[in-house]
Amino acid sequence: MTDVPADLLVYSTPLRQRFRGIDVRDGVLLRGDAGWGEFSPFWDYDADTSRPWLAAAREAADVGWPTPLRDRVPVNVTIPAVGPDDAARLVRESGGCRTAKVKVAEPGQDVAQEQARLEAVRDALGPEGAVRIDANAAWDLGTALDRLPLLDRAAGGLEYAEQPCAAVADLAALRRRQHVPIAADESIRRAADPMAVRRADAADVVVLKVQPLGGVRACLRLAEEVGLPVVVSSALESSVGIAAGVALAAALPELPYACGLATVHLFERDAVADPLLPTDGALDVRRVVPRAASSAGLGADDATARRWRARLAEVAG
Ligand SMILES: [Mg+2]
Repeated sequence: MTDVPADLLVYSTPLRQRFRGIDVRDGVLLRGDAGWGEFSPFWDYDADTSRPWLAAAREAADVGWPTPLRDRVPVNVTIPAVGPDDAARLVRESGGCRTAKVKVAEPGQDVAQEQARLEAVRDALGPEGAVRIDANAAWDLGTALDRLPLLDRAAGGLEYAEQPCAAVADLAALRRRQHVPIAADESIRRAADPMAVRRADAADVVVLKVQPLGGVRACLRLAEEVGLPVVVSSALESSVGIAAGVALAAALPELPYACGLATVHLFERDAVADPLLPTDGALDVRRVVPRAASSAGLGADDATARRWRARLAEVAG
């Protein structure tokens, strides 16, 4: 790159598949003494909810991250609510991922479709692979108790079930009443009190995301407090934001599970020239820089760039 980039860039990219109700992902990249940070709260988040996202971006730009304890971070491939053939193809094209996270509890789908998807994923991964499911808090306790044994069997054994129910008390009951381990995601990042999961013995694993939780150091503190194994996941960021997730995963004292950081392939155009995509099932621990010196070069038109500058001012102020 010959041009010196500005200290604030806005990126925008179409998504290869609709995700969380959006087709386009955009955000701000900030540069400080330590490097680049990403601020990209979803547009339906208010200023208060977006404040931790800005703290995470400022940490990345101004302070940098703790010394990594490892130089590679294993990641999972994410399988949306697709048919068995597409599910198997996604595993094969995942960059060597040996863990798959399969979405279940999709509105309009029945358990037979979920079983077929899980069987296809297990076939594609082989017996050594790990299969986990994510229900995004969609089931009540009774449905979860019905479904988990069926899906566990279809998957040839589930590594864990992520947020099968919304309520912490239901997660705790599920742990007592069946054997598939439980991971808490929404119960941590959307909760006023993330420690409730620990007090209720409601999870075997916690999912942490750097931006919603206010940065790498904030996540390390929370991980220590919760005292459970951590899976670091992305908030559908560009590689600049993903690098912060990788830094967290690299700094955790123990990392027994693959992380949910292989999401850059969902972007039609990443904001960096050398995207953080998995090879042999893992991401390298490294920093990245934007591939262009202007917001226009990163796909953001003037209106989008103005909208993000206004939002940044609102959240910072
Ligand atoms: Mg989840």
